[in-house]
Amino acid sequence: MTMSFGPRKKRKPLSAPASPPSQTASARPQTIKSSDTYRARSLKIHGWICAKCAREFDESNIQSLTVHHKDGNHKNNPPDGSNWENLCSYCHDDEHSRGILGDYISGKNK
Ligand SMILES: [Zn+2]
Ligand SMILES: [Zn+2]
Repeated sequence: MTMSFGPRKKRKPLSAPASPPSQTASARPQTIKSSDTYRARSLKIHGWICAKCAREFDESNIQSLTVHHKDGNHKNNPPDGSNWENLCSYCHDDEHSRGILGDYISGKNK
């Protein structure tokens, strides 16, 4: 119950950064999505291949290879990749729709 409403002194002045001489080469995206980070790691660890149908990917279609979180927790991203599975969009879809039914049927086909 101790909330301090002190004066905010952290106001930053809008200082304009020193503009680069040429503005043409500034078309670089500056935001790094965390999903890209773990995805890149998973692709590196598990390879550019779908873990279910073994479809292989290359740079022309790698965007169709997605990273599935085995425990369903997208925030559980261990660096060793133990919670990741590389799945193509079809298998990923299948995996999730099956997960719902899987709990219901409680039978694993493996
Ligand atoms: Zn697949
Ligand atoms: Zn998934």
